[in-house]
Amino acid sequence: MALIVQKFGGTSVADAEKIKAAARRAVEAHRAGNQVVMVVSARGKKTDELVALAAEMTDDPPAREMDMLLSTGEQESVALMAMAVRELGEVGISLTGAQIGIRTDSSHTKARIQEISTERMRNALDSGQIVIAAGFQGVDPDFNITTLGRGGSDTTAAALAAVLEADVCEIYTDVEGVFSTDPRVVPNARKTNRISYDEMLELASMGAGVMHSRSIEFAKKYGVHLRVRPSYADGEGTLIAPESEEDAPVVTGVALVKSEARVTLSDIPDRPGVMSLIFTKMAARKIPIDMVVQDVGSGGIAGVSFTVPESDLAETLTAAQDAVDELGSGCVRSGTNVSKVSAVGVGMRTHTGVAAQMFMALADSGVSIGMITTSDIKISVLVDRDDCETSLNTVHDGFALDQVPNCAPIGQDNADTPTAATAREDLQSDIVRRLASMEDIVVSEVQLDTEQSRVTIRNVPDDPGVAAKIFTAAANGGVMVDMIVQNIGTSDQAHLSFTVLRKHLDNCIEIVGKVLEQWSETELSFDRDIAKLSVMGIGLRSHTGVGEKMFKALADTDINIEMINTSEIRMSAVVSADAGDRALQCLHGTFGLSD
Ligand code: ADP
Ligand code: ASP
Ligand code: MG
Repeated sequence: MALIVQKFGGTSVADAEKIKAAARRAVEAHRAGNQVVMVVSARGKKTDELVALAAEMTDDPPAREMDMLLSTGEQESVALMAMAVRELGEVGISLTGAQIGIRTDSSHTKARIQEISTERMRNALDSGQIVIAAGFQGVDPDFNITTLGRGGSDTTAAALAAVLEADVCEIYTDVEGVFSTDPRVVPNARKTNRISYDEMLELASMGAGVMHSRSIEFAKKYGVHLRVRPSYADGEGTLIAPESEEDAPVVTGVALVKSEARVTLSDIPDRPGVMSLIFTKMAARKIPIDMVVQDVGSGGIAGVSFTVPESDLAETLTAAQDAVDELGSGCVRSGTNVSKVSAVGVGMRTHTGVAAQMFMALADSGVSIGMITTSDIKISVLVDRDDCETSLNTVHDGFALDQVPNCAPIGQDNADTPTAATAREDLQSDIVRRLASMEDIVVSEVQLDTEQSRVTIRNVPDDPGVAAKIFTAAANGGVMVDMIVQNIGTSDQAHLSFTVLRKHLDNCIEIVGKVLEQWSETELSFDRDIAKLSVMGIGLRSHTGVGEKMFKALADTDINIEMINTSEIRMSAVVSADAGDRALQCLHGTFGLSD
């Protein structure tokens, strides 16, 4: 007998007919001989309505009371669903998060799951009932109701599937599955039949609202097979599962965070510990930062920019001001009206020229790129919000994502071989077994890469097409570019840094040098010997504590950080070559990993 978790999102239970349809689906699965756990969201726009109602009471609702209020949406749905199930002749039992025993921490409105009791659910299932669980909610150690963050019912579903060791977790929603991008924004988006955990995790974290990113963390950690399916039809949907051993698409999807904001700390001291302080201040407020770009310091003075969701901007500015006060110098600025567009695909690990292709597509549409950051399987750019939908469409078309994907063979330079990936999964399951709390951070490995060099170009004109020209020339010359970061400086000029394989450095300098001849103010410099440290794991960016720990450990060891990239599966820092081994050892110690 199989155990199936079926999650129904808001639109899939919006009215009586839809609730009945969802109940029929669960009853069918039950009558086919399966044990069934339903996870149900609040009906339609119920949660938004409750948020709006709270705003009519106060500008600053206490987070505890928000959770009390928002959790009622799901409570209504589960009761109605249990009635619908009974009408179909089966017994359904509705349960709130507290009744199930979904224990969370106390961070109201973004609580993390610590443990889940399976006893009550198992008893109900064993006695032939359909369990109907309220999504999105839990209870803290003092029995306060908590919620997991908007869209959190997916996370409830994946977490219940994990503890119950379900055979499959089906996510029923209002689209056919996971698409190459939001099909409501880009009509020619293409549905994918299968996507890897890592790709879905990055896409969800970068704005693909179809799944709550934390649900993918659960799925990957606990090996849950998720299937995203339409609730209004019988489509097979999309399987979210481990990376397939076949060739991987170079780019799987594109995502957009429309309301992003940029924060810059300028004129701050250029010394070890600065990044650590910033990450610590943000982590204390659980603000996940992204697109971190440091300006190469001159005269002991440096600058750092990063992005945050616009909804976190006010708190971020307070935290940034705190950091500046503590550093004793500097000033904080912010830029709104910007959006983040990201392309994600595991094939990027082995394929050159992917970033160039993205920059070229944007240039051809006349879009100017503010900031750039890349990680091993994603590239993000910051653009004006007015350009965001054009950018999304352009990048989608630029990678021909409406067509059958172009695949990159696995196993070239720089690639994770399937054996390495399997070894990593074994190591990871070992770590997961030892977690004190279900949503604890998983850090499975620290890597040191000493094969790279850094190239920096200052005073690049801030015009469409500049990055495209540079990286297209490099790609055409066979130069393997790894990390890229770009920041817009003052007076319409940008600073660009990237790493290349050391064996390609001389060739790169020659090629890029030629491209730069057309812009007289640019200054090219390089560092032949650098070390790149990468911490690998799951949920690294959104669990703000990982960046905090990593940069604190490096600061305590007196190591200066030259470049950073953040992602959910890898956090990397470039340091000077002579600090590489020390940094590796210190990070092994910090994350409790043996050599
Ligand atoms: P539910 O209420 O079922 O949880 P959501 O609204 O949270 O549904 O998620 C489904 C929506 O996600 C779709 O209607 C679609 O507009 C949006 N979406 C964003 N990115 C994607 C994507 N890459 N693939 C599919 N849908 C996406
Ligand atoms: N009802 C909650 C929300 O709208 C949770 C969810 O639907 O996943 O955010
Ligand atoms: Mg959702």
